[in-house]
Amino acid sequence: MDVNTIYEIAAEEGFANVAVINTEDLEFVSAFRTLCEENDCGNYGKNYGCPPLCGTAEEMKDRVMKYRKAVVFQSRTKAADIMDPVLTKPIKKNHIRMTRHCIKRMEETGMAMDGFSIMCGPCDFCAVCAVLEGKPCAHEDMRSSCLSAYCINASALAEHCHMEMEWGGNIATFFSMYVFDKR
Ligand code: SF4
Repeated sequence: MDVNTIYEIAAEEGFANVAVINTEDLEFVSAFRTLCEENDCGNYGKNYGCPPLCGTAEEMKDRVMKYRKAVVFQSRTKAADIMDPVLTKPIKKNHIRMTRHCIKRMEETGMAMDGFSIMCGPCDFCAVCAVLEGKPCAHEDMRSSCLSAYCINASALAEHCHMEMEWGGNIATFFSMYVFDKR
């Protein structure tokens, strides 16, 4: 995979920063799974990409570690109050859309895309996740889970990538990844 082409495409798509890292440098914290279980986001058990349906913390880590590398995408978008989900939800959805588009463009350049994406929110590929209708996942090839479902420490990721990450203020910061280079 040509790193410079990835950087160019990511910048054109509007990402603030992009980095290519080794998956060995990711920090997995299985205790994060309890935060999913508390279900503040309301998606626990309601999306095939979310816990517990996506798999255990260990299974999710194993899935990532089958690959050597990851592209990390970061967006930084102004929002009046980054703690207000009404304001940040559309920004998050746009970050996911940008990530999908970026991956599609990378594929179109002929890059070997043998991996999968990790997003900043629940899988939103379908308007309504099939699990809510008691049906199997409608697009398993497009299903994604978020960094939290993989128990990836986003703060450590930001630090490793030398990317800023605020917990207050007026800049909504989101991360997504594409893991690649299968072992
Ligand atoms: S692809 Fe559709 S059915 Fe499958 S997890 Fe995503 S939203 Fe749900």
